[in-house]
Amino acid sequence: MTIVIPEVDLGKCNGCGDCVELCPAGIVAVVNGKATIVRPEDCDYCTDCETFCSSGAIKCPFEIILVKDEGS
Ligand code: SF4
Ligand code: SF4
Repeated sequence: MTIVIPEVDLGKCNGCGDCVELCPAGIVAVVNGKATIVRPEDCDYCTDCETFCSSGAIKCPFEIILVKDEGS
């Protein structure tokens, strides 16, 4: 199984740590000065890291499809 996770552009990441603070799943760390997804299986696909990275260094290459629950 392939897990699609946020991708960090190491050339753009300045290691500010904002994504570490923002990630609600607590799965981002700064390692050797660059953001790293340390537990990809726990990503909840919120896209906050992409939204709030001021350097545009992190991208979420997945599509969120919202499905209305019509009940059963
Ligand atoms: S917020 Fe952006 S620049 Fe800062 S550590 Fe995360 S990916 Fe890198
Ligand atoms: S998409 Fe959300 S849960 Fe996944 S790494 Fe980014 S901020 Fe964390």
